[in-house]
Amino acid sequence: MLRIKRVPTVVSNYQKEEPEEDTAPHGLGCGRNCLCNCCLQGAKLPLYAFKKMKKKVTQEDDHPCGDETPVAFLDSLLLGEWEDRMQKGFFRYDVTACETKVIPSEYGFIAQLNEGRHLKKRPTEFRVDKVLQPFDGSKFNFTKIGQEEVLFQFGESEDDHVQFFPNAPIDIENSPSVVAINVSPIEYGHVLLIPRILECLPQRIDRKSFLLALNMAAEAGSPYFRVGYNSLGAFATINHIHFQAYYLAVPFPIEKAPTRKIVALDDGVKITELLNYPVRGLVFEGGNTLLDISNAVSDSCICLQNNNIPYNVLISDSGKRIFLLPQCYAEKQALGEVSPELLDTQVNPAVWEISGHMVLKRKKDYEEASEENAWRLLAEVSLSEERFQEVKTLIFEVIARGDDGKGNNIQSSIDEADESETPQCPKEVGALKKGSHPTMVPGKQDCLVLH
Ligand SMILES: [Zn+2]
Repeated sequence: MLRIKRVPTVVSNYQKEEPEEDTAPHGLGCGRNCLCNCCLQGAKLPLYAFKKMKKKVTQEDDHPCGDETPVAFLDSLLLGEWEDRMQKGFFRYDVTACETKVIPSEYGFIAQLNEGRHLKKRPTEFRVDKVLQPFDGSKFNFTKIGQEEVLFQFGESEDDHVQFFPNAPIDIENSPSVVAINVSPIEYGHVLLIPRILECLPQRIDRKSFLLALNMAAEAGSPYFRVGYNSLGAFATINHIHFQAYYLAVPFPIEKAPTRKIVALDDGVKITELLNYPVRGLVFEGGNTLLDISNAVSDSCICLQNNNIPYNVLISDSGKRIFLLPQCYAEKQALGEVSPELLDTQVNPAVWEISGHMVLKRKKDYEEASEENAWRLLAEVSLSEERFQEVKTLIFEVIARGDDGKGNNIQSSIDEADESETPQCPKEVGALKKGSHPTMVPGKQDCLVLH
């Protein structure tokens, strides 16, 4: 069993220092105004219902920011409620006072000095060699947060319109999805999206939950509002399904990295591969509907989970670009393969760090922050080229097969101008040697048609 020690992030004011003792079932009202049965009867929260989405992701004019929208999702609702909680003093520190700088360089890595995030907590052991672990109700989970930490309920509308109810009852039978604050924010508007909170699902992607996260990104409608996901073994600390999201008005380095086309699915989803970025990863774009891209990514995530490969996901550009990044840092850390200099920084390379937003805990690291240092850390996070090729093969086999059994044609989609960057055949991966550069690998264009 592989374990690492790390200081867990406190995401809720109800997350205790010590593991919670086995408590007897709550009586009526536990006094914490939580999200368990004890306190939910008669509770009300705002409800934002997005309209059923059957449209193309790429159609800008289809975004529900038109006249019919009863409330501006990002500006009024999400950020407005977030600021309200900040004013009420629910956060552990003032993130807007944390120093942040963009490192002047090609990619513009973003460094933040955040000394308050990890104080007052002792390191805890985390198992990092199991991406799928059963939900454990005795540990901290989001049903234990206070209702005042929840900003609103988020779900699909029953008709073709966006709907907003400032004071909606909580439908316990149908387990609402909720958006809550993270009391240890790393940026403005840092929130958690907890799909079907009362179902107490473990941290694992399923199609429905991922589509919900994608809808949140689409609803926000801003390229600066990103949604992220960390699997267990890739720096998630709470085994209760959740996504994170926040607003940061600069491009992330990963969004600037060049990509190389690999394949196009017959439902219009294009998959490319990151080039010249320290972490190897896949980028998903396009699709005839939001559901197409959602299913392609969630099926890929499910494949990684089933193969016990830790990963992170970044949803960018209002849900139009999604980065999938398998990683191995925690495993290396547990095996003693990470250098003491990197460990000393105590930086946990989760989705935000991998995307180029480096949250640093020591002033020294902040002052010395450079693209080279960021690169050095992230290079340790990445799978090796050889391993990445194997993982790609696993993913493409799953996507080509299709979860619904209908299959999905994967067509080669190489630009004429792109000939120097011929993709390699996943089936030839076994023959690859360590250190091969993707652009140097010979391949056949027609080898990517998988059935
Ligand atoms: Zn309660």
